[in-house]
Amino acid sequence: MYQNKIEGAAQIIKSGGLVAFPTETVYGLGANALNPFAVAKIFEMKERPTFDPLIVHVANFDDLHILTENPSEDIFALAKKFWPGPLTIVLPKSKLVPDIVTSGLQTVGIRMPHNDIALQLIEKSGCPIAAPSANKFGKLSPVNAKHVKKQLPNVDYILDDGDTAVGIESTIISIEENVCKMLRPGIITAEDIQNALPDNFIFSNE
Ligand code: AMP
Ligand code: MG
Repeated sequence: MYQNKIEGAAQIIKSGGLVAFPTETVYGLGANALNPFAVAKIFEMKERPTFDPLIVHVANFDDLHILTENPSEDIFALAKKFWPGPLTIVLPKSKLVPDIVTSGLQTVGIRMPHNDIALQLIEKSGCPIAAPSANKFGKLSPVNAKHVKKQLPNVDYILDDGDTAVGIESTIISIEENVCKMLRPGIITAEDIQNALPDNFIFSNE
């Protein structure tokens, strides 16, 4: 039953539609991250300003090769310490990532969610999924399918997985050269990041 629902949702993503799906943090409003027309629908439905970049969700580490420019072994090692989990890593983007995803920035935020349905959806869709929280811009992030339906009644499909586990948005860090910056606090703390960073990295919590 569930299997079929995820397959159906993946078909919607493949054909350029929008699917709301659970992650461990909040429900996301997802589209094929490599299809700029599909991603544009996210901004439209959320009434989100296009200068606010989206986080791209992946289900395997190899997608770092597709989405980012020459990721180092250190980046993979760091990602493997926290993924799947509520950490978004902002890295220099590859040419494959449409500008609309990153609001024209040369960097892209990426994370691997710790939710089986989310991971299966991404895998079956066969593409990374760009997804902000599934609410109208400026409103509370939804932690269950009912909240999503109320805010975004026109979404093509909602994958229902009950209440999310964390309810707080992911921690965001950026890494450029060997400098790691804390961009948004979350369940994963600055100390957790500092402890996990390779020795040759500099940490900045400004
Ligand atoms: P959310 O609204 O939880 O999906 O998170 C999106 C937020 O992630 C944005 O508002 C930015 O603060 C941050 N973000 C995403 N991509 C980038 C990026 N390339 N550079 C810096 N911050 C980013
Ligand atoms: Mg949000």
